[in-house]
Parts: sequence; structure tokens; C-alpha cells
Amino acid sequence: MGLRRGPKNTTMNKIILHLDFNSYFASVEQQANPFLRGKAVAVGGKGRGSQLERTVITTASRQAKDIGIKTAMSSIEAKRLVPNLKIVSGDPKKYSEITKRFLSILKRHCDVVEQFSTDEAFGELTYAAGDYFGATMIAQIIRAEIAEECGEYCTVSIGIAPNKLVAKLACESQKPNGLTVIPPDKVSAFVATQPLSAICGIGPRIESRLANIGVTSVLTLRKISLENLRHEFKSYGDWLYAAARGIGDDVVVDGKEAPKTIGHSYTFPHDLVNDVEIQTNLLALCDKVTWRMRRDGFIAGKIGIYVRYQGFYGRGAQKNLSEPFMDGLELFSNAWKLLSTIRNKNLPIRLLGVRASGLIKTNIPAHLFPKQNKVHKTLKALDTLQTRYGAGVWMRASTMNTNFYERTSGWHYDHEI
Ligand SMILES: [Mg+2]
Repeated sequence: MGLRRGPKNTTMNKIILHLDFNSYFASVEQQANPFLRGKAVAVGGKGRGSQLERTVITTASRQAKDIGIKTAMSSIEAKRLVPNLKIVSGDPKKYSEITKRFLSILKRHCDVVEQFSTDEAFGELTYAAGDYFGATMIAQIIRAEIAEECGEYCTVSIGIAPNKLVAKLACESQKPNGLTVIPPDKVSAFVATQPLSAICGIGPRIESRLANIGVTSVLTLRKISLENLRHEFKSYGDWLYAAARGIGDDVVVDGKEAPKTIGHSYTFPHDLVNDVEIQTNLLALCDKVTWRMRRDGFIAGKIGIYVRYQGFYGRGAQKNLSEPFMDGLELFSNAWKLLSTIRNKNLPIRLLGVRASGLIKTNIPAHLFPKQNKVHKTLKALDTLQTRYGAGVWMRASTMNTNFYERTSGWHYDHEI
């Protein structure tokens, strides 16, 4: 006689961990520089001296937060408030390195790891841990390994719960250095104690719309019927109804394997001879490459170019850059310089290729990069258009005459590489 089987367990409780670094950029800076430890430190945008004064605060150290320094405060305002505040210029490379390290620690211990931002990730522990006791042990090990491999100044808060919503809420509820474990039978009571604004997905706009219908806490939200929430918030009403009860998404998705390179090349319908024509086409290629980088959340530290002349004779070159890049003009100015070092000016150009490598997945705020905020705001607006209407919706005035036809193949034709 075989074993009697019950119905398939489709609602098995998962064990999800959420990890979030405390004052990430500031902690990494304190780890890197002993003179900053224990002090009020703020990380600002890229810049030096008076330039740095015009940036905003990206992260404040715990010591700085304690005396009123907040994220997004202007550096001038922060200095006025705390004259001896140490403002350090942001260094994306350093932060990306630590991000890489903590993700690899998580991968050692979790079934699946999903990066959520530069300093946050979800990990599934259902199989690795077996139960909440095991999960708590693993969380302690992860914390110890982070202290060892990222540095003891890089502290984390950890939340463990049956889904991502509650794991993140648990993590957030104790900072710095917290470890908050909410097993399934504690979820409802725990969520009820949390402010609405702490729930990831309830932003200031939703919060004020909720306040308009008299909802100012999780408990009052639970009193609103699903029908009324749907009426008020359309399909978001379903999400709110579930969130108030601690029900949320429990699928941790492995981040896509990062591509090795992102590039474009194009074989021109006629050979290019003059500099303006070459520059225009090179810029258009660079815009295509960096658009894909930003769309997929990458910065790059290395560029490659390839040029082919009539008769299929060609050359390529690559170069490491001192600063990572994400915008087309910057890629272009470096690509143009690199091209000049290998180009034979006597030969008409048949094909050009540009490639970004040394890719780093990042959610690091754009203003940390050596570009003015204005450029980034413009890029962001343009990217929103491209996301909505597809690549090619905008073009720089200088590349208007450049027309690329999509084809896929090797370096030889226009293609994504
Ligand atoms: Mg954080």
C-alpha cells in the first residue's frame, strides 16, 4: 500500500530573507578611511571643493543622521547645520565592489538571490534553512561573513518572513544592525504595528489618498472592504488589501546573468570619408549602446571600438577608463579619441563598431557620476520616452541624418553585441 497523499501543497510557506546595509555609502567610506570612523560623515555627489558644495547628500553616516543630516539635503544646508561635517565625494566603483561581495556571500547560503538595489537584496532560504531557527542561524553567519569580507563598518539589517513584503518590513523595523524574524503565525500582528509609510509600495501619494478616506494605519486599512479599495485604487486596491494583511509576493527571482559586453556596429551604405560624418555616426552608435546600458541598469568601465575600411582591412582597440560611464556623449568623446589612435585617415571607412565592457549592474543614483545633474535629468526623461515608445524615438540633432537599420550578425553588420 502506498503512502496516502494529501492535496498538493501549493501554499507552502517560504522563508525569505531581506538584507539592507545601514548608511551604505557612508559606511563603505568609513571602512575605507579610518579617519572617518565614528564621525559625522556624509557622501555627496562627485566633485571637489566648491563644486562639492553644490551637490546633495546621498547618504549620511549614523553619527551624522543622529544630529539631523538627511539624504537629499543640499551640502550647503548640511554644512550650515553641522559645520564640522565631513563631506566625501561619492565613489561608485568602491560601492559596486562591496555590492559584488555581499551578493556573492548571499549566493553561498541562499537557494536564490535577487538584488533589489545597490545595498539591498532578497534571498530565499526555504530549502537552505528548512525552518525559521535554521534561517536565523544562516542570517547570523551571513552577517559575520559580511563583517569579514566587506569590513566591520559595513553593517546590515536583516528581516526574515514568509514573503518579500514582510521580510523587507521586518528588516526596516530595526536599524541599524537589526535581525527581525517574523514566522507565519506572527505576520498579521507584526504588520499591524507598522506605520503605513513603512510598507514598500505605499508612497507619500498613496498615503495621502488613503488619509483622504480616513485610513491612517494598517488596522484602519484592514477595515476597508476589497470592493471599496478597488473602487478607490483600481487594481492597486487588491495589492493594498493583501499588504494590510501581510500577504505579498514570495517569488525570489535570480537576477539575470550580466552580459559581458553591450555594443553596436554598423556597415555603412556608403564609405565615410570626412570627420563630421564619422563623428555623427559614432555618436549615434554610442547613444544606442548607452541607452541599452541605462535600460538594463549598467555602468561600464571599459570601451572598445572597431573600424573596417574598404577591402575588409580593419582594426580594433580597447581602453579602460578612469571613471565609469553611462551616457552617450561621454562614451563618444572617449571612443573618438581611441579611434584617432588607430585610424588610417587615408582610407574610407566601411564599418564602425562601439562596445562597452567591464559592466557593473548598479542602482547607484545617477548624480554620483561625474556629470551634472541636468544632464542626468535629461537622460532620464529621454529614457522614459524610449521605454514607452521604443528606441529611436529621440535622436540628437547632430545624428538626425544617421539611419540605422537593425540587422543581427557578427561585428560585420549593424547589430547589438
Ligand atoms: Mg540601506
